[in-house]
Amino acid sequence: MKAVCWEGTTKVEVKNVPDPKILNPRDAIIKITSTAICGSDLHLYDGYVPTMQKGDILGHEFMGEVVELGSAVKNVQIGDRVVVPFTISCGNCFFCNRDLWSLCDNSNPNAWIAEKIMGHSPSGLFGYSHMLGGYAGGQAEYARVPFADVGLFKIPDGLSDDQVLFLTDIFPTGYMAAENCDIKPGDTVAIWGCGPVGQFAIRSAYMLGADRVIAIDRVPERLQMAKEQGKAEVLNYEEVDVGEALKEMTGGRGPDACMDAVGMEAHGTGLEGFYDEAKQALRLETDRPTALRQVIVACRKGGTVSIPGVYGGFIDKMPMGAAMNKALTMKMGQTHVHRYLKPLLEHIQNGDIDPSFVITHSMKLEDAPKGYEIFKHKKDNCIKVVLKP
Ligand code: NAD
Ligand code: ZN
Repeated sequence: MKAVCWEGTTKVEVKNVPDPKILNPRDAIIKITSTAICGSDLHLYDGYVPTMQKGDILGHEFMGEVVELGSAVKNVQIGDRVVVPFTISCGNCFFCNRDLWSLCDNSNPNAWIAEKIMGHSPSGLFGYSHMLGGYAGGQAEYARVPFADVGLFKIPDGLSDDQVLFLTDIFPTGYMAAENCDIKPGDTVAIWGCGPVGQFAIRSAYMLGADRVIAIDRVPERLQMAKEQGKAEVLNYEEVDVGEALKEMTGGRGPDACMDAVGMEAHGTGLEGFYDEAKQALRLETDRPTALRQVIVACRKGGTVSIPGVYGGFIDKMPMGAAMNKALTMKMGQTHVHRYLKPLLEHIQNGDIDPSFVITHSMKLEDAPKGYEIFKHKKDNCIKVVLKP
């Protein structure tokens, strides 16, 4: 089959690789019909995530049709049309039982590597380094899905791939990030980053009752989408002092909740190259988490900081004094996708939201290298790329 392979920093290639096989009675094989490129893939593309190996298959936002089942799978059938949460979860452990699916204890066979760095391991993720399970990703013609009974979610007829594909990640991610803002009636939420995750976070914040959403970025078409379709007030951080502007817009008090939907590749971090060395030591360090620092400093006293943006390794020089003395609540994590699939599908079915609004580019799997290039550099007004194998 054809698959998008990581071949080193900023290098992806579409290659012919062996088809996936059932390895465990609980596995399923999916023939992929749609798969997207995520901001999280850019961290791999940029070489920020250690334990990637040349030839690893990328992709964690994918859906398709079930074509093969292990003998123990009961809840799905061959021919079912399904979306696949990017987090791999067993459905039976301490964490899955507490609805904390991205913290599953049984889905990362390489947990010992993550434990060395973090003390404990999160769940395995599709296409996201050997430290997080070494699973082949879904930017391919086929993928193996472990724990298929809990890792596949059937989609009713009548909804297109483009409408449901983002249930795999960025819609739940924006939604959980907004939920993590602990929104009360009358609240103002400020969101750094108007990429795909930020766009879903804006809409989710309104769905959860925010009075005002202020969105921050520098890319004109992303700010425009946030403003026109998302109904957010927008700030271009290259044109204004964001901290001062937010104070002014909130009567000096600051937003009730502030969200970092940017993560590691925050523009201006100057990290390129550094990570190649750091990979060797499995130790990542930077003193410039630009957006996150602003988020913490801008948040009002007693407010909430929500961090869907992905970080790895060590981040130094965080304004912990501000966080502590302002009594901030900080919430973060890889999304518990399984928790949100059903309620968010209902929102789509009810017509509350059509997630396809975010797609600017639809291309063939073979064109993935171009997709990564334009998504990374925000060329050609790119906001979200979907690949059709
Ligand atoms: P993206 O790269 O398309 O969007 C990031 C946006 O942030 C860009 O529009 C960029 O211009 C903007 N930006 C950069 N520096 C900024 C700054 N200093 N201030 C304000 N804006 C700034 O990526 P995306 O797909 O929207 O993903 C965003 C983040 O969410 C990534 O870190 C990604 O890894 C993460 N993510 C997390 C989860 C999760 O489960 N927690 C899931 C999916 C994605
Ligand atoms: Zn993603």
